[in-house]
Amino acid sequence: MLSVAIIGAGICGLRCAEVLQDAGITVKIFDKGRGVGGRLATRRHAHWRFDHGAPSLHGDGDGWGDRISRYPRWHCGDNTTWHHLPTSGINQLAKDLAGQLHVQLNCQIDSIEHRGHGWHLIDQRAVAYGPFPTLIVTAPCPQTHALIKAVDSTLFEQLSTVRMSPAWAMMLVTGEPIIAAPELRPNHRLIRRISAESSKPGRALDTGEYGYVVEATDEWSRQHEEDSPAAVETSILSALQSIAKTSFNPLHCAVHRWRYAQTEQPLDQPYLFDPKLQLAAAGDWCFGEGAGGAYRSGEALAMALLGAE
Ligand SMILES: Cc1cc2nc3c(=O)[nH]c(=O)nc-3n(C[C@H](O)[C@H](O)[C@H](O)COP(=O)(O)OP(=O)(O)OC[C@H]3O[C@@H](n4cnc5c(N)ncnc54)[C@H](O)[C@@H]3O)c2cc1C
Repeated sequence: MLSVAIIGAGICGLRCAEVLQDAGITVKIFDKGRGVGGRLATRRHAHWRFDHGAPSLHGDGDGWGDRISRYPRWHCGDNTTWHHLPTSGINQLAKDLAGQLHVQLNCQIDSIEHRGHGWHLIDQRAVAYGPFPTLIVTAPCPQTHALIKAVDSTLFEQLSTVRMSPAWAMMLVTGEPIIAAPELRPNHRLIRRISAESSKPGRALDTGEYGYVVEATDEWSRQHEEDSPAAVETSILSALQSIAKTSFNPLHCAVHRWRYAQTEQPLDQPYLFDPKLQLAAAGDWCFGEGAGGAYRSGEALAMALLGAE
């Protein structure tokens, strides 16, 4: 295994690449996004910043706990686990990891082929890359499933047991506070969680500005997956008015749809590997424990590939 291609520069793909590269393997990562991080995403608008995927990094144990504890702590009111966050936004973790890695951005891999000496990857402009002796796919499970559909691999069947749920997220700035705590998880049919972005370390806003990310529930997001952004905006704002109990004035409002936000039914094993084809798959959907689980999945796969050499 002299060189490896990884599809996906989320936390799973980046951690996997880091371990392999540290062991002397040449790694090339491909991602369709404009930046690294995947669902560890930070959106900027004017001077506002929103972590509109995962709101914070949390969890302890092994390398993940050590890694995230390098960043400031966010006192979000959860006394069961510590939450951490880079001041510039959650996706700084991915940027810090990607610093020494070779990542090709804006490159959506549309198909993969195994022939001759290995794997060939073809992107959205029909540009081909490879051959790579080993290929690792770390896209959300349904996208991984679609990519390896054309390949006769044992992985295909195993991937079909996993289920992921969508989520609509709203990025909102108001002229008045809408919740008193840094984070609120109301018992509401539409709203799962409200995170006060301006309560995060180093993220205080100008006087008279309050920044929030509002996440819709899985169930509501699934029912309204194909709604227009304008319709979703109207529904979430009206639900928020009932939770806030005081009227508020939006200074900025935008929504984002995550088709595959979180894992509903995980694989329950750290990764998948087809030794015959040298094809592997990993991601948060393996353990189903969010960003920490994605990190551990990528790490476990890299260690297994190194052990198998
Ligand atoms: C709204 C929301 C709330 C969340 N809340 C939490 C939380 O509270 N706690 C927590 O721990 N986690 C939370 N998560 C989940 C957490 O963000 C993910 O578990 C974690 O970031 C997944 O990392 P990953 O590397 O497995 O996948 P991703 O981050 O999805 O990375 C996969 C990458 O693959 C790329 N890709 C996909 N297909 C292709 C292709 N064909 N070609 C090239 N590139 C491709 C994508 O662009 C992406 O960058 C939340 C997520 C969302 C969306």
